[in-house]
Amino acid sequence: PALMTREISEIAAQGGLYQFHITSLNPLNPGNAPDDFERRALTAFEQGAGEMFAREPREDRVLFRYMAPLMVEKSCLQCHAKQGYQVGDVRGGVSVSFDIGDIEKTLRLHRIILIGLFCGVITLLLGIIYFYIVKLMRQLAYAEERIRELAIRDELTGLYNRRYFFERFEAEASRSMRKGHHLGCIMFDLDHFKQVNDIHGHLAGDAVLRGVGLLLRNSSRRSDVVARYGGEEFILLLPECGMDCVASMAEKLRQLLEQEEIRMEGGASLRITASFGVACFSPEALRQDSIAAHLINVVDQALYRAKVNGRNRVEVVGG
Ligand code: GH3
Ligand code: MG
Ligand code: MG
Repeated sequence: PALMTREISEIAAQGGLYQFHITSLNPLNPGNAPDDFERRALTAFEQGAGEMFAREPREDRVLFRYMAPLMVEKSCLQCHAKQGYQVGDVRGGVSVSFDIGDIEKTLRLHRIILIGLFCGVITLLLGIIYFYIVKLMRQLAYAEERIRELAIRDELTGLYNRRYFFERFEAEASRSMRKGHHLGCIMFDLDHFKQVNDIHGHLAGDAVLRGVGLLLRNSSRRSDVVARYGGEEFILLLPECGMDCVASMAEKLRQLLEQEEIRMEGGASLRITASFGVACFSPEALRQDSIAAHLINVVDQALYRAKVNGRNRVEVVGG
């Protein structure tokens, strides 16, 4: 009976956990009249809805409302037949309400934690991806640099190779023309190098070439272009270097090489000399003919003269 349900509901409300309410669009007791939610639910039940629920924010809490219909059964008719009900009609309904404020607070907290975790994981992932991309790009840059170095360097001596020398020759020749500077060129060939190979072996010959490379690197300017021209022939380009400068550089190298004791792997050492051809191209001469092969041919002739004139000497073009 509605009265009893109402009393139980009041006891439940005192406990504070949940409330329930029996109601009808047509209550016998006006105290059991429906509130807004219940009225909407009861109307919906009459149109066939099986249940209704809603969220209802109040001043200090949030209520979850649920309502299900009470259908007229045969036993109900003892009291309600006089109201014209028939079995199967919607007599009313029971609604249940409970506070979901704490649940929603917990849900909100969980949502914030989830968003925080999501952002953290995404940041971490992006960080890892960024780290690997940077690492990869560094490796790529290093590999590119290595490839470039391999393409322009002679493997044995570490000096520039012939191809790169010609490339730089063009650039330095046009720079000298533009700036009105002289461009010095030294070419030298090791004397009787074949004997080194024949007597000490090819590996010893390689060690000598490496030693010459080291000596050249240590005694040239940063702006000089130092290359291995061929087997035991080396070539240097000296920008902004007049005839005196280039001739004295060649003489300095000749003496250094002559004095150098080149150490072999077994501990033995040997000495070597070289013949030098030297030229100095003025900006005017470069303007007339800046073709590298022609100009180097001139230096080569001076080198040939150094060989013919007794080796271990410097011959200057025009000298
Ligand atoms: P010259 O004084 O007239 O220049 O006599 P040379 O013996 O130095 O000249 P030649 O042209 O007869 O011999 C050059 C030798 O250099 C022959 C070749 O085996 C050697 N050579 C060239 N490249 C290399 C190399 O990379 N390693 C070694 N070990 N020897 C090389
Ligand atoms: Mg030689
Ligand atoms: Mg030679």
